[in-house]
Amino acid sequence: MTVVETPRVSTHSTITVRNPMDGKVVYSVSQATAEAIQDTMQRSRQAAAQIAAMPIEERVRQVQRLQYWIVENSEFIIDSILAETGKSRFDAFASEVFSVCDVIDVFAKLAPKILADRQVKTPIFLMGKKSRITYQPLGTVLMITPWNYPFYQGIVPTVTAFLAGNAVVLKPSEVTPLKPVWDKLLTESGFCRDALLVVYGGRETGTQLIEALPDKVHFTGSVAAGKKVMAQCAPHLIPVDLELGGKDPGIVFDDVDLERTVNGVLWGSFTTSGQACTSLERLYVQDSIYDAFVKLLVERTKQIRSSTPGADTSRCDSFDMGTITAPYQIATIENHISEAVSQGAKLLCGGPREHGSHHIPPTVVADVTHAMKLGREETFGPVVAVMRFSTEQEAIRLANESSYGLGASVWSRDLVRAVRVAKALKTGNVSINNHMITQANPWLPFGGVKHSGFGRLKGEHGLLGFCNVKSIGIDKQGSKIDSHWYPFTKEKYQLMSNMLKHYFGRRRSWIRFLASALRMDSMGKKQKFK
Ligand code: NAD
Repeated sequence: MTVVETPRVSTHSTITVRNPMDGKVVYSVSQATAEAIQDTMQRSRQAAAQIAAMPIEERVRQVQRLQYWIVENSEFIIDSILAETGKSRFDAFASEVFSVCDVIDVFAKLAPKILADRQVKTPIFLMGKKSRITYQPLGTVLMITPWNYPFYQGIVPTVTAFLAGNAVVLKPSEVTPLKPVWDKLLTESGFCRDALLVVYGGRETGTQLIEALPDKVHFTGSVAAGKKVMAQCAPHLIPVDLELGGKDPGIVFDDVDLERTVNGVLWGSFTTSGQACTSLERLYVQDSIYDAFVKLLVERTKQIRSSTPGADTSRCDSFDMGTITAPYQIATIENHISEAVSQGAKLLCGGPREHGSHHIPPTVVADVTHAMKLGREETFGPVVAVMRFSTEQEAIRLANESSYGLGASVWSRDLVRAVRVAKALKTGNVSINNHMITQANPWLPFGGVKHSGFGRLKGEHGLLGFCNVKSIGIDKQGSKIDSHWYPFTKEKYQLMSNMLKHYFGRRRSWIRFLASALRMDSMGKKQKFK
């Protein structure tokens, strides 16, 4: 079966969405016009003003409506995701629908606590004053999302930003716009009017939306596009989160249970056909178990039932691993495999797809080096590159030898060692004896370092990323003048020097400090300009 390799946007004004399983057209959608973009941004700003005034309890009720709608329409959502991504039914259910509900449920409980005003202490210099932190919305947040988790990537930042009091404009990927889901959700769920507005189009639409000056851009996608988005935001000082690519390492020490660890690695590498930003792409296995581990890995990989053209997507158990979603990604995956093999790596299983189809089987390549693209660049497909190491230090060095820094996993019975290694890895997330459990936990912040971007989604940090974290300092009215206010006099300078020495110095003297402080205080009561 041959699948038509469509460009990302079929014509200037129309996006044709095709099912990657069979290449059939699912639907077409018009790319937003410049006028429609302006109109959307204006509506969003009006909605933002209303949402900002909405009590947090009401915002929570609104997102709960979304949650219940998602549960009641889960099979419809999954069918729509499958039609546009070609992933397996189980993958769509677990990592898009179930996990989205988990995030909403947790944030509905967390948000009121995190967003409540907070009293904090004041230092000695500001004695007698009060300090508070208050969390305010930013306005309209633009979400630009990729195609690998089209529902999750749309809903999770939207819910978080909305709970923080913002309106959201979402530009889904032109590869997986998921229009039937957004249309149904916006008309049926009862979610706050205009709090979420969806704009369809490709990268030019993303550019036009940024030109309309949103109050923040939350971008998820490739490094190349992330740099362009940041450059476009820079002259306007629009804050931007960049959730970019990865090349996650997994380090397997020789004390692991082979069967369990092989199974964990399989899932980490092949879930959603390896099209997760935190897929386990580089696997470092300790020398003494290398041969046995790789043998079992290959055996188990061959047992994964990958989809074939014409596979039955209506059943949850007809195959484990689906297709490659974006046609242009296939060339990258095949190029990484063939370049590695031409440079001496061993293709142990998987490899070539059925000509013209999107179905690449789960693939294990051994004896990979960092000189090969497969050991260095993001492959974003069902391919695990296996390498060996002998010492803990070598494993850390190899894992850190990457321009990316998104996630990682460390596998060992020795938890002290595993935590030590986790801390030494230059990434935003590390799972121990598992893979990707950090981003499955809404209580934890998720994001990267190095070329994997910056900013955090989820957890307390993620919620606060959509806020103006405002500080308020409160002083009393009265006749008293602060010691650091004018007029500056010799006597004040001397008293402050005494306070510095007696409070912060090597030999602290609370009594002497107090004597100077009281003197300063009484001066403040009568100090006047001459
Ligand atoms: P992409 O960068 O090509 O596109 C992502 C989105 O950005 C799309 O909606 C696209 O239309 C838009 N876009 C592209 N160029 C733009 C520009 N100049 N201005 C404004 N918008 C622009 O990425 P993709 O191929 O859709 O997705 C795959 C990439 O996403 C991979 O690198 C993957 O690692 C990354 N990703 C990262 C995370 C994360 O959380 N770190 C999660 C999922 C995917």
